[in-house]
Amino acid sequence: FTVPAPVNEPVLNYSPGSRERSLLKEAINHAYSDQKDIPMYIGGQEVRTGQKVEIKPPHNHQTVIGHYHKGDKTHVQQAIDAALAAKADWEKMAWEQRAAIFLKAADLIAGPYRYKINAATMLGQSKNAYQAEIDSACELIDFLRFNVQYMTEIYAQQPISSPGSWNRVEQRPLEGFVFALTPFNFTAIAGNLPTSAALMGNVVVWKPANTQIYSAQVIMEVLREAGLPTGVINLIYVSGPDAGDVIFQHPDFAGIHFTGSTGVFQDIWKTIGNSIHKYKTYPRIVGETGGKDFILVHQSANLEVANTAIVRGAFEYQGQKCSAASRVYIAKSIWPELKEMIVRDLASLKVGPVEDFSNFVNAVIDEKSFDKLASAIDKANADPQSEIIAGGNYDKSKGYFIDPTVIVSQNPSSVTMCEELFGPVLTIYVYEDDQLDQTLELIDKTSIYALTGAVIASDRYIIEKATVALRNAAGNFYINDKCTGAVVGQQPFGGARGSGTNDKAGSMINLLRWVSPRTIKETL
Ligand code: GLU
Repeated sequence: FTVPAPVNEPVLNYSPGSRERSLLKEAINHAYSDQKDIPMYIGGQEVRTGQKVEIKPPHNHQTVIGHYHKGDKTHVQQAIDAALAAKADWEKMAWEQRAAIFLKAADLIAGPYRYKINAATMLGQSKNAYQAEIDSACELIDFLRFNVQYMTEIYAQQPISSPGSWNRVEQRPLEGFVFALTPFNFTAIAGNLPTSAALMGNVVVWKPANTQIYSAQVIMEVLREAGLPTGVINLIYVSGPDAGDVIFQHPDFAGIHFTGSTGVFQDIWKTIGNSIHKYKTYPRIVGETGGKDFILVHQSANLEVANTAIVRGAFEYQGQKCSAASRVYIAKSIWPELKEMIVRDLASLKVGPVEDFSNFVNAVIDEKSFDKLASAIDKANADPQSEIIAGGNYDKSKGYFIDPTVIVSQNPSSVTMCEELFGPVLTIYVYEDDQLDQTLELIDKTSIYALTGAVIASDRYIIEKATVALRNAAGNFYINDKCTGAVVGQQPFGGARGSGTNDKAGSMINLLRWVSPRTIKETL
């Protein structure tokens, strides 16, 4: 069998006056008036606990747009039971049948659900229309379609046989259930982590970040409409400790598919290690974690390219992509001109709520994140070695707004130069033109994380030098481009060091983690 050859979903244009814009606005208005009551979904049942938690847009935190029903440890146990009860039938199902469900889900998002899921992402996670479109529509659709293609390629890979014997490899689902623990910053990732494991025949317990439940619920609605059988993916809204206490003690825990912070992932890894004797099988531990992503701008750079890479790479979605540029190294001779360009462009970026489509920068996800960023800005203000050259203002009276902020630091080891902040705060270090080798060494040495990075240069010797010197400093390396916006099928995404297990999201490498191969030799 072959499956429909995947192509990347085209990005819709929400320009003023377009039909797309009015449909999206309609979906946003509907979301406000709808006041969604969001249940968990366990074993095919909508579960309402009555413990209601309000959902408010980060850019408009006075307004309630719905609420979700919070669960506890009993619901975690119920979700595991439901998953295990669904396992035998799901595993037996022919892969074409499984594939059809996820292909249909992709079509539903591309068609009737597009505006609804984008509106949910815009309101729940404070993404502007374009950022929502490339995430909850295009990237999620791409994950679903490309993964089906990769699955068929995995199944097709077979060993050679010799006369008298027939060898084959059977890609079994894991023995147990998979736990998907998903982040707020990409609806596409939240959708990919449970569905990629399920596609390979696994049953899943899915706990989204509390700040993404509003759009997670739409993903679940789509999967149900696409025909996902009862119990295959169970969606729960519980605290991290409640989930962890039950899941990581369960003998059938077979793997975790995670995107989130490095600290949480390391704690989970330790917990799994301490419980290792309890499990039937060594669990698969797959995680994409933090980033402190860099851009190096050499004096041979095209300054327009550098400026766009910096402004878009650092400030799209308020710098809340794991891939966002948050430290930039710029050669001194080009700094005055580039500085002018950056400051000029940042002054033109509008900050405000998503409902006004002209706002480029919206709110950061919650108060905790806002406070952390505000305090980093305060510290930079008080630091004699740092200067804030753009932004620096913040205001949480209506929404969690932080102006796009650029700090120039004379200290390449300063806190904002090295620590992950996850917001619209960028730190720049200006290096002497003749100190490139030392700067490359410095970047590598300070890359505790190693997710994305970019070099902007036109001199090919420099591009080659940086590519070699920074080999281990980024899992996704960009030449003359911003360091965000990996496209499924084009740039498999993930990093090593503190950034994760580098099992490239949206690739065969990732799907291989969700199967346990059995080799069969038959003598004929
Ligand atoms: N894949 C996204 C990008 O390339 C980032 C994913 C993340 O933030 O986890 O921008």
